[in-house]
Amino acid sequence: MTDINHHHSTKGQHQRHYNHSQKHIHRTEPAKIQVEDDRTGMSVETLKRAILDNLFYIQGKDQFFAIPYDYYMALAYTVRDRLIYRWLKTQQTYFEKDAKFAFYLSVEYLKGRHLRKNLVNVGLWDVANQALQELGLNLYDLMEQEQEPGLGNGGLGRLAACFLDSLATLEIPAICYGIRYKFGTFDQVIQNGWQVERPDKWLRFGNPWEIPRSEYVVEVKLGGHTEAYLDQNGHYRVRWISDRTVLGTPFDTLVPGYNTNTVNTLRLWTARASEELNFEVFNTGDYTRAVADKTFSENISKLLYPNDNTPQGKELRLEQQYFFVSCSLQDIIRLYMIRLHRSRGGSYEEALLRIEISQEHFENFDQQVSIQMNDTHPSLIIAELMRLLVDEYQLDWERAWEITQNCCAYTNHTLLPEALEQWPISLFGRLLPRHLEIIYEINRRFLNQVWLQFPGDLNRVAQLSLIREGSEKQIRMANLACVGSHTINGVSQLHTKLLKQSLLHDFYELYPEKFTNITNGVSPRRWLLLSNPKLALLITERIGKKWITKLDELKRLEAFLEDAEFCQAWQQIKHENKHDLAEYILQCNGIDVNANSLFDVQVKRIHEYKRQILNLLHIITLYNRFKQNPSLEVLPRTFIFAGKAAPGYFIAKLVIKLIHAIANVVNHDPDVNSRLKIVFLRNYCVSLAQRICAAAELSEQISTAGKEASGTGNMKLAMNGAITIGTLDGANIEIRQEVGNENFFLFGLTAEEVFSLKSQNYNPWNYYNSNLELRQVIDMIASGYFSPDRTDLFRPIVESLLIRDEYMVLADYQSYLDSQERVSHVYLEQEHWTRMSILNTARIGKFSSDRTILEYCQKIWNVKPLRVES
Ligand SMILES: *Cc1c(COP(=O)(O)O)cnc(C)c1O
Repeated sequence: MTDINHHHSTKGQHQRHYNHSQKHIHRTEPAKIQVEDDRTGMSVETLKRAILDNLFYIQGKDQFFAIPYDYYMALAYTVRDRLIYRWLKTQQTYFEKDAKFAFYLSVEYLKGRHLRKNLVNVGLWDVANQALQELGLNLYDLMEQEQEPGLGNGGLGRLAACFLDSLATLEIPAICYGIRYKFGTFDQVIQNGWQVERPDKWLRFGNPWEIPRSEYVVEVKLGGHTEAYLDQNGHYRVRWISDRTVLGTPFDTLVPGYNTNTVNTLRLWTARASEELNFEVFNTGDYTRAVADKTFSENISKLLYPNDNTPQGKELRLEQQYFFVSCSLQDIIRLYMIRLHRSRGGSYEEALLRIEISQEHFENFDQQVSIQMNDTHPSLIIAELMRLLVDEYQLDWERAWEITQNCCAYTNHTLLPEALEQWPISLFGRLLPRHLEIIYEINRRFLNQVWLQFPGDLNRVAQLSLIREGSEKQIRMANLACVGSHTINGVSQLHTKLLKQSLLHDFYELYPEKFTNITNGVSPRRWLLLSNPKLALLITERIGKKWITKLDELKRLEAFLEDAEFCQAWQQIKHENKHDLAEYILQCNGIDVNANSLFDVQVKRIHEYKRQILNLLHIITLYNRFKQNPSLEVLPRTFIFAGKAAPGYFIAKLVIKLIHAIANVVNHDPDVNSRLKIVFLRNYCVSLAQRICAAAELSEQISTAGKEASGTGNMKLAMNGAITIGTLDGANIEIRQEVGNENFFLFGLTAEEVFSLKSQNYNPWNYYNSNLELRQVIDMIASGYFSPDRTDLFRPIVESLLIRDEYMVLADYQSYLDSQERVSHVYLEQEHWTRMSILNTARIGKFSSDRTILEYCQKIWNVKPLRVES
């Protein structure tokens, strides 16, 4: 094996970092660790002992000083200890078997709290409950102590979190990579009806679920320039002379599957300065400047950008993406090399210290490694893998490209053209000069091929190019992802169809075989077993426990549709859950809601395409009807909203204010407030979503058809027996197909109708002028009925509706009202409603993320489950 690496090589980095901390230790016999039963046993007695030990030795408290948070921490460490053995066993199994691995790359993981999930997944729930009771503590109170790690914005990050659970439950050899943001998505507080953002200091009191792995630190280069040179064989080569370096330290979170021995790894990267202090500056006595560089480097993993479905073209965001891609890829290669070394008879420790990576090692790399990009945020991995293979390991371009394409796959998450990531060439080149050259070369070769296939088609070449021409040239990350991947998938049938037809049409014509659909799903553990324990128990009593990992089993509930006792219990549980939520609402918002009213729920990011506005138009319409006819017989409803707006998204923030303004009028009007209540629950997050799902009856999935890629909120709510009122958008279509048309309240234009109406110069005024109720509602908002102190406050919203109505709110208004009327009628027939509710849950099996992950394994990754022995 020849060392063909120059002085900046990755191999050199490994040696440097391991050498200082770990000398190679000569052992005659490997030390065996005995895991003693009474150290990590699962009995009530051992658990009690462990909790008190951890309280004492880790928290440094006794029962005199301890506050609830200390008990939470002590319990969390107790649970983590019980995962370690299985985790190590899992990782060892992975190293020993030559199985193919899936590596999932996502800049967001919206995980929700760990404690309950881990207790349930490893079968410790009952024992822990008992142990705590005997210690005079309450498990539910302790669970509330956990800070939720909000490392994601919405659906995309939550999907990744459901995948973590499914990958481990299905025993898939996988590692998930991401960024350990110091500040997750902001904490939303409401002041005078306005959203105010507060930093989310989730790590302030420590995080017991992670294990820092400083010994696996990697270096990431940034900036500088490139140089060409001739290697010893006279070949033209390029090297990248960077001008700064940051270090990436991994923090591992253990991810146990439900009822398996598998414990997978979520590896999140934190940026550290490569030098704690700039010693030259330090020696001159300028202490402050000496630490300034450190702060600068550490900014990379400091915060999650709070945008959902809109890219932020900030330099720091690009640094984050590259940092995370570079760290993860170095780790993927290192793990691969260790396995390779072991398969040739070497030990783990030797492999860690001694491997010199060279060309020949990559021969089977693409048969062992599958890399999934969750959206385009990790798409720099294509350029980075090419750079490593070509520059560092000196493979020829063609082979490197083959490996790259064979390894990488891309999931698209949006049809909104404005949501596609692009980076200005100037910014990109300053940060990643070598990657820019590589992207140009990928593009040159790619466009030559396009030209051969479609000679003379300049327009097509311009559309497909990785570079968007213009006064400021931009790199199109979706195009890079499409060209560098073997498979491109959409996340619902409609979304994939529309990707092929419009957003990625030119790529589809070029590579039809690359496209596939994998409809999203959600974890039935998180979204039914944990979030709705009463319903889960009722289901288990009737059909056994299999549904927890085979969600199609829920179909067997259909046998109980005529069982009055079962239907009664179903209703009763929903009622109790509503009662719990009502109590929470009273506590948080001071609003007294009627637990017998219909709980009508729209909880998701605030976005124009999601049309919270349409919901509000309906509410105001009902309000007007009552005001005009106080004796009107109508169904009492509680409208529940929750969701964050991106801090820079003006209209979305104004929508939050409008919700509060309308609530303020309606909730205080004695003519209507016994029948209508509006509630906005602040700081929508996973824990809140769990509470709401269990209590929801009507699920609002009312986006403009063709705009929501899939949605997953729709699945969670239906899984908990809420009935959807929705458009034919995203996964709503498939949900409706599964649960049956008669168990779904449909309204609105289809995606095709939206496109054709748009092309015929859609004019919102036609609807405004011809619909009396609609006109009245809009006039009220416009005239300041809900904002008497500032009558023009909501003008921007009114203008967005009347000038362009980009999201066709007015076109769908009447159809939405009609559908809502059907909702009210059916709800009054409680038995009918309950039947629909049961059928929604019974037929939701398809939307388990287990099914989704199995499809990724089969259609994209070619990865198979690997059983871990106990
Ligand atoms: C499920 C979920 C989402 C996604 O909801 P959609 O309705 O699909 O947009 C967003 N945020 C949180 C906290 C969630 O749990």
